[in-house]
Amino acid sequence: MVLAEQVSKSFGSNEVLKSISLEVKRGEVMCLVGPSGSGKSTFLRCINHLEVLSAGRLSVDGELIGYRESHGKLYEMAPKEAAKQRRDIGMVFQRFNLFPHMTALQNVMEAPIRVKGLPKAQVEQTARDLLARVGLAERADYYPAHLSGGQQQRVAIARALAMEPKLMLFDEPTSALDPELVGEVLDVMKGLAKSGMTMIVVTHEMGFAKEVADSLVFMDGGVVVEAGDPDEVLTNPQHRRTQAFLSKVL
Ligand code: ATP
Ligand code: MG
Repeated sequence: MVLAEQVSKSFGSNEVLKSISLEVKRGEVMCLVGPSGSGKSTFLRCINHLEVLSAGRLSVDGELIGYRESHGKLYEMAPKEAAKQRRDIGMVFQRFNLFPHMTALQNVMEAPIRVKGLPKAQVEQTARDLLARVGLAERADYYPAHLSGGQQQRVAIARALAMEPKLMLFDEPTSALDPELVGEVLDVMKGLAKSGMTMIVVTHEMGFAKEVADSLVFMDGGVVVEAGDPDEVLTNPQHRRTQAFLSKVL
């Protein structure tokens, strides 16, 4: 479903991603961990072409992201085309960036109406179903300011799902939450994984990685240091850098 081939990304002379090659199969969950500045967010941003690649290629569901290939050369897509590809990739960030002037329901309904132009009644029914799925049926008419951080993050997940993505990217979705609210968001993500969604999750929640992920990738300094079965990587890390990192987060 997601194939990264020798993806590199530099900001000026700062090479942030150095030839990253990874694959996530359909229905699989990959957890991505690594120290601050190791390039995790940049990698996620490359997957939906919020960043231009310096080298390499990325495809989602067999489709090259952000570029068109012609006579063996890659040409960057027009922004409109890239935006179209992005619709199929849901993204949830650390900070729940809900629209503050819209209710939970309106937040979830916004993109399908504005972007897809679907009829309002149909979108509303789907949005209510999604809010129920994340345990917030009773909160549909609340504004973000009147929801807890965990509830806001669950609305953000429902909002991403409203576009029927084929892939979900999560960038530290629970790290801004009070500890007692982390579980409810992870539970929603577990349910999503169980339903067969393909997911890439940047997180330091190792319990989640162990329970839900099919693979665990440890990045440091823009390279994949170690990747494999989460149990293996967590209990028997092969590299000194992985061991040092895990000893801090476990
Ligand atoms: P964290 O755990 O703190 O979120 P990260 O692993 O997500 O870290 P990135 O945000 O991907 O790391 O950043 C990797 C490196 O790229 C950092 O050195 C950062 O300063 C640099 N970087 C990221 N975005 C930009 C940008 N738009 N312009 C210049 N440098 C950038
Ligand atoms: Mg980051």
